[in-house]
Amino acid sequence: MPPILRPVRAVPLLAALALCLPAASAYASDPNVAALQVALKAVHTYHGHIDGIGGQGTRRAIRAFQAKKHLGVDGVAGPRTRKALGRRGGPRLGSRVMRRGQRGWDVAALQFLLARRGSSSGSIDGGFGSATYAAVRRFQAAHGLGVDGVVGRATLHALEHGSSGHSHPSRGGSGSGSPSGPVRFLRPAHGPITSPFGMRWGRPHQGIDFGVPYGAPVNAAGVGTVISAGWNSGGYGNLVIIQHRLSFQTYYAHLSRVAVGVGQRVAGGSRVGYVGATGHATGPHLHFEVRHYGVPIDPMPYLLSSYSKALPQASGTPAEMGCDISVQDPAWLAAC
Ligand SMILES: [Zn+2]
Repeated sequence: MPPILRPVRAVPLLAALALCLPAASAYASDPNVAALQVALKAVHTYHGHIDGIGGQGTRRAIRAFQAKKHLGVDGVAGPRTRKALGRRGGPRLGSRVMRRGQRGWDVAALQFLLARRGSSSGSIDGGFGSATYAAVRRFQAAHGLGVDGVVGRATLHALEHGSSGHSHPSRGGSGSGSPSGPVRFLRPAHGPITSPFGMRWGRPHQGIDFGVPYGAPVNAAGVGTVISAGWNSGGYGNLVIIQHRLSFQTYYAHLSRVAVGVGQRVAGGSRVGYVGATGHATGPHLHFEVRHYGVPIDPMPYLLSSYSKALPQASGTPAEMGCDISVQDPAWLAAC
C-alpha cells in the first residue's frame, strides 16, 4: 500500500521529519495523518474519527477531494493535494513556533499529540484557542518545561519523543531536573507493566496496567484521601480514587474488592483493595491512572522503582508518619 503522506522533497528538514515519524513513533497513529483527517473533515470528504491512522476511510477521503479539485487521483496527500487544502494543508508541524490564535495543519497535529499524551484540548480542529493553550500549559507543567503555552522546539520534542509510550526503565532516582519534578509515586502492585500509557488499538489508554493475579493486594501510591470507592459503571468496575496534594489523583481500577471508604486518609503503601477483573477487563490486572488537574498523564516518569509494600497495622496517622508524594527522597517515601 502506498503511504498516505508524501514528504516534501524541496524542504529537507520537513522531509526528514515526515519520514522518521512512522518508524520512530511507538504508536500506530501519526499526528500528520490526524492533521490530514481534520483538513479532509473540513472539506466534507472524511467522516471518520480523528485517529491518526491512515486506513481505507482516509484514503477514500483523499481520492474524493482530489477528484473534486481535479488533481491526480492517487489517494496520497502529496504537496499539491496539501496545497489545495488551503490554510488547513499547512504549515508543516515543526516549521513554526505555535501560539494562541494560529490555525492550520500543525495546530491540528499538535492537538492530536496533546490528546495522545493525555493532555487533551477537547477538540482536534486545527484552531489554537484557549482550550489548546490550557492543554499546552498542563503538558508543560507536567513535564518540567517552561510553562508559557507556546509550542517551540522543546515542547514539540517532548510531545513527540517524550517518555510516554516508550519503554524506558522507570526512573527511580530523586532526579532533580527530571521531566516530572519531585513528585513520585510508589508502585501500587507487585507485577510487570503489561500495557503502557498511550494509544492502544486506536484509542488512548489513560493509564498503565500491572499484570497481577486475582486477589493480589493493591496499595496506595502515596499519601492522600479516598474520594471515591466502589462501583463505576463507566468501565472501571470497582474503583478507588485517591486525592493527593498538588492536584494529583490516582485511580485503581477493576478491583475484585475495595478495602477503603470515601473520606478515609491513606498512607503510601496502605491497602486500598485487591486485584480483580471487574468492569471492562479481559482478565485480572490492575489498571492504574495518575491524573493531574483531572487530566490523565503517563504515570511512568512519576513511578518509583520500589513496590509499595503493605504497611503493618499503622500506628499513628499518615501525617505523623510523614509520607508525602512531594517528598524528594524516594528511600524515605518508600519507608512510609
Ligand atoms: Zn488499563
